[in-house]
Amino acid sequence: MLPTPNSALVLRSSRKAVKFLLDATSKTALTACAERTAIFKAISEGHKHFKAIAVSSDDSGFTPPCGACRQVLIDLAGNIDFIMVNAKQQVKIIPLKVLVPFAFTNKNLQRSKKKK
Ligand SMILES: [Zn+2]
Repeated sequence: MLPTPNSALVLRSSRKAVKFLLDATSKTALTACAERTAIFKAISEGHKHFKAIAVSSDDSGFTPPCGACRQVLIDLAGNIDFIMVNAKQQVKIIPLKVLVPFAFTNKNLQRSKKKK
């Protein structure tokens, strides 16, 4: 199952997909991208374990996540695969740890709380 253009699809660890067909937003500070909105929605619906997130674009190239989405995804979903689908239905898969090396996550906060 591939997401439709300009949308995100969250794949749960149970191999079932949670489909979120969202139009991509414009890139302003007051909006959120499809992938960030999709992970927030999945978590708000009670899903906790994810395998991958797929994002489709109507661009002929691959569209990577913005910096804010990279941080949110690795913090809330861990090192899942980020799947990019372009307009030609070609697929590129990159683990989030590759997109966010040396990431700041909840583990960093937990370690600093233990020191107090
Ligand atoms: Zn984004």
